[in-house]
Amino acid sequence: MIDRYSRQALFPGIGKEGQKKLGNSSVAIIGCGALGTVIATSLVRAGVGKVKIIDRDFIEYHNLQRQVLFDEEDIRNGLPKAIAAERHLKRVNSSVEVEGVVADVNYTNIERLVGNADIILDGLDNFETRFLINDVSLKHKIPWVYGGAISSSGMTMNIIPGKTPCFRCLSSNLTRRGTILTCDTAGVISPAPFIIGSLESVEAMKILVGAKEISCQLVVIDVWKGSFHHFEISPRQDCPACQGKYEFLEGKFGVRTTSLCGQNAVQVLNPGVGELSFKELAARLKVVGEVTYNEFMLNFAIDSQEMVIFPDGRAIVRNTTDESLARGLYAKYVGA
Ligand SMILES: [Zn+2]
Repeated sequence: MIDRYSRQALFPGIGKEGQKKLGNSSVAIIGCGALGTVIATSLVRAGVGKVKIIDRDFIEYHNLQRQVLFDEEDIRNGLPKAIAAERHLKRVNSSVEVEGVVADVNYTNIERLVGNADIILDGLDNFETRFLINDVSLKHKIPWVYGGAISSSGMTMNIIPGKTPCFRCLSSNLTRRGTILTCDTAGVISPAPFIIGSLESVEAMKILVGAKEISCQLVVIDVWKGSFHHFEISPRQDCPACQGKYEFLEGKFGVRTTSLCGQNAVQVLNPGVGELSFKELAARLKVVGEVTYNEFMLNFAIDSQEMVIFPDGRAIVRNTTDESLARGLYAKYVGA
């Protein structure tokens, strides 16, 4: 085993001691798209003892452009991402305990799913679940690494309970709700998530070995422009999460779904969203599907899926009774 990690242990930041610490560590990766596959690959190859990969989706052809762990055979076999990732990574490093979990992470199951992980890595494509990770992190004092990538850009930041501002502190500056871009509407080129996923991996390694060089700045990159910036983030004085109010974990906010009996449709509620701008949403969605709207509702159709969206963020997803699928489509196209 020493031989397998000899080059990594030669690096002074890790060393033999650090290698041992990695081997005794456990990580939870939530979301296994472009970011998640890069992070999982790095950490399993690096010899982290336990790697849990949680994702709700199946693999589609348009994922292969950037999701490095998957191939065409996985699609032919109809494998969920978490299972395909587990199978590939077990072949890479059989000494690591790799566990793929197919699940839609929400406030009822996230604490159980994260379990006693030493760190949580963000491979997500939606804000709602990040707020949940943030609550779990602060409540159980588990560090996490936020990361997101879209188009040619991305950002990442370490969130260490008690030491750094949290994700709610950060996000009050980042987003205007209801106008969040998603990969399915804005597109993405692979080097953006590759770099952000790599930065998340190295921060995870540093936190796990107890390195001194742990930054709490927000890193923002644009691979097309070749830019790389660091920003100091200040804690928010009135941040509920920092004051021990875990509102997302209590299920107070966030997306909720209800299957509408006999209608073959699922209703999606998103109480935190505020007033949506149909004009902006329509401009994004018409790139990928058909959109019509008036002041009361917006109709969006893509492939066999149809969605009706209301100004308060509520949506009806038609032609399905699968609540998890409806949440996924909502996160993809409206942004949660
Ligand atoms: Zn905070």
